Amino acid sequence: MSTLAPVAVTHWCRNCDTHHALQQVQQCVPAPTALNGEVDILICPSCNSYDIEELREVSDAQ
Ligand SMILES: [Zn+2]
Repeated sequence: MSTLAPVAVTHWCRNCDTHHALQQVQQCVPAPTALNGEVDILICPSCNSYDIEELREVSDAQ
């Protein structure tokens, strides 16, 4: 059995057409205007694009 946590690839970069897990694209950045002082943004680890699309669970596979 693997001890690695299952990593669901749920996000897709429109810019460079790569797929990533949430933890790879999610970045915490300081945001003084946010209630908890930071916000989560999605950014591509490959090309640093913000153009990240969240993939839905397969709902209408054809
Ligand atoms: Zn990218």
